[in-house]
Amino acid sequence: MSYSEDVLETEIIQYSEEVSVNFYKEMNTKFTVSTSVQNNFVTEITKIVEQAKNKWNFSSKKLDIYVVGANRQSVIDLCDVYRNCNSELEPFIFAMKGGDAFYSQKENTYGEEGIIVFFDTVFEDISFKRLAFHELFHAYQFHYADASSIGALQVDGPWLIEGGAELFSEIILYQLGYQTEEKFNSQMELKLLSKEEYLSGNIPLNEIQYGSPLRPYYLGSWFTVYLISEVGYEVYLVDFYEDLHTVGVEETIKKYFSTDIPGVIKNFNNFLAQENDILLMRLNEVLDD
Ligand SMILES: [Zn+2]
Repeated sequence: MSYSEDVLETEIIQYSEEVSVNFYKEMNTKFTVSTSVQNNFVTEITKIVEQAKNKWNFSSKKLDIYVVGANRQSVIDLCDVYRNCNSELEPFIFAMKGGDAFYSQKENTYGEEGIIVFFDTVFEDISFKRLAFHELFHAYQFHYADASSIGALQVDGPWLIEGGAELFSEIILYQLGYQTEEKFNSQMELKLLSKEEYLSGNIPLNEIQYGSPLRPYYLGSWFTVYLISEVGYEVYLVDFYEDLHTVGVEETIKKYFSTDIPGVIKNFNNFLAQENDILLMRLNEVLDD
């Protein structure tokens, strides 16, 4: 089905033998795609971008999306389109080696911030969608006009930003019917894997680093559940992020929790210490709001 061609006005430019550029004007998105990437993969990404933008209500956010094939020349050609090839080749090579995907606040071709790079690989369908929605949630998190840098919001570790993306990729898969309620719950239960180790240790959630066996993304997704149970779903999605970018992490936490970061982490630890069944109930309550 030519989903995107029916719905959207597109303009396709063949940049080189290895790369083509598709503008999806109504979606405010430009796709730069290695020709070694399968067409159905591109169609799938297009659909996912549109679904994410509709669900999280940020259609106006302008995005550049690069889809990298497993072919070095196509990576170099893509990089050429991306500009500053010398300094910017690195992330593409990283992606080509299986870094999967990343979101960057680098300036895109619309003169705004926001670039997503996907690596074309053999994904199990649902895993790819999960990854795509994760990166798109980062685009959502940083779609505000006065968005601060990712670094500013991840001073100590990935808990807040990655935790949000990790939870919302699961939620949207469930909301759009890509995964059943049972699958959604088992995915979220899986993210409690390092709960006991974390609770019996002495590293606070906000200081767990990328790559730690304590799984900061997973624990962060449960912190996000806690956060939403306290402030509400809509407030988390809208006001909370606006405040993060306007006044920063510490002031935002103070505003919503009347305590500082160590205080909110302590409260989260008490929340997390409940039985897993109770936690899953709290999760479902949060979604019913
Ligand atoms: Zn991420």
